Amino acid sequence: MFNLETKRLKPETGLMPLPPDYHMHTPLCRHAEGEPVDYARRAVELGFTEIGFSDHSPMRRDDFDNWRMRNDQLDEYVAKVCCAQQEFPQLAIRLALEVDFLPGQEEWIRELAARHPWDYFIGSVHYVSDSWDIDNPAKLSQWKSRDPFEVWTAYFERLTLAAESGLFEIIGHADLPKKFGHRPTQNCTPLYEKFLDAAKRANCALDVNTAGLRKDCKEIYPSREMLALAFARGVPIAFGSDAHAPGEVGLNFAEAMALVRSVGYRECCRFTNRRREMIRF
Ligand code: ZN
Ligand code: FE
Ligand code: FE
Ligand code: ZN
Repeated sequence: MFNLETKRLKPETGLMPLPPDYHMHTPLCRHAEGEPVDYARRAVELGFTEIGFSDHSPMRRDDFDNWRMRNDQLDEYVAKVCCAQQEFPQLAIRLALEVDFLPGQEEWIRELAARHPWDYFIGSVHYVSDSWDIDNPAKLSQWKSRDPFEVWTAYFERLTLAAESGLFEIIGHADLPKKFGHRPTQNCTPLYEKFLDAAKRANCALDVNTAGLRKDCKEIYPSREMLALAFARGVPIAFGSDAHAPGEVGLNFAEAMALVRSVGYRECCRFTNRRREMIRF
């Protein structure tokens, strides 16, 4: 990882070169619309040269929740991405998953990793316990009986474990608990630092995720504060729109690029066969 060459993005069109959008979903997760070919078409229109699909991975038990593909749909998912690759040969399309990290699921995640030639895994923490996915609007009332700082603490403990697990190239939307606007009054910097130190040791990149701008928090994940701490530690980044519809591909990337540039970033990651390469943006 220390001697990877830096490549320049070469736009095929006259448009501004865009970094890869590495976070997009498909209808298999049951809360997104549009087929991978539709996302790819949109990406080409916008001038992207590279994207990656990272739909919500299946759990070992299909009845775990209702917002991910079933186990028996994993091959169908890969086939859909493959179809987009064939239809748009001018666009590099990576095959990935957004994998939920829950302590105790490590073996399951290794099994998933062995099933297809993935380019990268985004490790995300949505669950702070087996029953509470903190970003689920259907469970918004849970926040009423919880102290935000306790939730943030539990979340960042899990996120730190996710980074340390070595199972992921990218850590998804690293300050997700802010989604609905619940913010602790306490200082959270030590939580961020502990997580970022772990991310650095484990070679994990941060998902700079523009979906937060479309939520109540009205802010990119992660915050400028966390990005500055990440840059100071040499934690790399990858961009993602977290598109759940073709119209969301690449949304607010100009803003995301300006934000990370303002804390010092000039390079982002690209992944092929779970191997990292740095590119300038
Ligand atoms: Zn989703
Ligand atoms: Fe997510
Ligand atoms: Fe996502
Ligand atoms: Zn996501």
